[in-house]
Amino acid sequence: AIPVHVIGAGLAGSEAAWQIASAGVPVVLHEMRPLRATEAHRTPDFAELVCSNSFRADDPLLSAVGLLHEEMRRAGSLILAAGDAHRLPAGGALAVDREGFSAEVTRRLEAHPLVTVRREEVPCLPPPDRGRAIVATGPLTAPALAEDIRRLTGEDSLAFFDAIAPIVHRDSIDMDIAWMQSRYGKGEGADYINCPLDRAQYEAFLAALLAAEKTAFREWETGTPYFEGCLPIEVMAERGPDTLRWGPMKPVGLRDPRTGRRPYAVVQLRQDNALGTLWNMVGFQTKLKHAEQVRVFRMIPGLGRAEFARLGGLHRNTFLNSPRLLDPLLRLKAAPHIRFAGQVTGVEGYVESAAIGLLAGRFAAAEARGEAPAPPPPETALGALLAHITGGARAETFQPMNVNFGLFPPLPGAPRGRERKRAYCERALRAVDAWLGRPHVLPAPREAA
Ligand code: FAD
Repeated sequence: AIPVHVIGAGLAGSEAAWQIASAGVPVVLHEMRPLRATEAHRTPDFAELVCSNSFRADDPLLSAVGLLHEEMRRAGSLILAAGDAHRLPAGGALAVDREGFSAEVTRRLEAHPLVTVRREEVPCLPPPDRGRAIVATGPLTAPALAEDIRRLTGEDSLAFFDAIAPIVHRDSIDMDIAWMQSRYGKGEGADYINCPLDRAQYEAFLAALLAAEKTAFREWETGTPYFEGCLPIEVMAERGPDTLRWGPMKPVGLRDPRTGRRPYAVVQLRQDNALGTLWNMVGFQTKLKHAEQVRVFRMIPGLGRAEFARLGGLHRNTFLNSPRLLDPLLRLKAAPHIRFAGQVTGVEGYVESAAIGLLAGRFAAAEARGEAPAPPPPETALGALLAHITGGARAETFQPMNVNFGLFPPLPGAPRGRERKRAYCERALRAVDAWLGRPHVLPAPREAA
């Protein structure tokens, strides 16, 4: 049989290769390390964890990422099997011994009879006559390949930095304070959620923003990220007391229905996904520490109880405009023999990257066996993440995303808080078992670590 080529043996590529081989299809796994390093990797091992050693919360009935772990386990994930085998005590989180974890992933792939490993840099996208390929080269894709991807996808479709503004769950915004309106009634007339600030509130917010703790750029990231149009909000604030009021917080063209007047300043939120559950804070990309973002942004009237689906950030990160470029099965529309997987598709995090690798691998293997691949239902964490990057997210403002409950189709009449999370998780596990064609079981209670 013609092998599937997987480029990059990181979190996504290792998982994709494992899924393909497990389906009985040969795979060639190309990895450039140790011949060529990235700025963040330190070892020749597959699935190296470049920073933290945590896969985050592990509870499959309470957290979206814990649910994703469980779905991946049920789908035979190598990354989760190796993570579980090298688990370290970390409360409710899945933390792993990074060396043991990566060594195990490497060993199991190298030992698999259907996996051929080639230690080489792949400089360009493979042509159709080489068969199917999965590009899983990550946030630090080597420059030659990145250039080739850009040539095929167009200038604006491959980003080299992310500039993420915080994203808020719609149902945590206080609409007794905020209101819907577009500046001067443009568009549909009410496309934005507006949070009003009076002078005292604006000045207090500005002071808190300037005093808040920031994260530093890594050495190799400095100098590059501040391109115009996506300055961090705190850097803009440093330029003068009115810079924000004339920039992203300008109140012109808006009238607060409660006062009948134009507010002193506003924060606008724009719809971020087709479901309408997630809204991003327009122009609020930031390098503030995560806890500081929550503290400072909750000072904004209307966001006092905001729940953040993801917090802001600014990093070196190579990623595609997937909603525009990829079809629902992760194929490049312009060259359907090529799939993308991992962080380069615009997901964020080790687990999310591996999850997209798992899907790309299963889809490619099904095609290679002459079967029609079926995407997981959107009620599952796998399906919700896939649906977001391949169409649910707005292409115009697409930025990397973690798995979170705002990506799931809402459950009508569900209770709030923990009960609701549990209802989403139970629905997801039923759906994932049906998708995998296995009998449905609820997860065993987690032993306290
Ligand atoms: P990677 O794991 O980076 O794998 C890509 C692989 O492709 C690498 O092995 C690379 O050597 C190889 N490669 C690249 N180009 C080529 C080529 N042309 N030919 C052959 N091989 C190639 N996420 C978290 O959840 N927690 C964190 O703490 C965290 N910290 C991060 C810190 C940094 C500095 C960065 C950049 C990202 C971090 N991430 C973190 C985000 C992300 O989850 C990880 O980068 C994750 O490893 C992405 O998985 P991936 O498989 O898409 O890419």
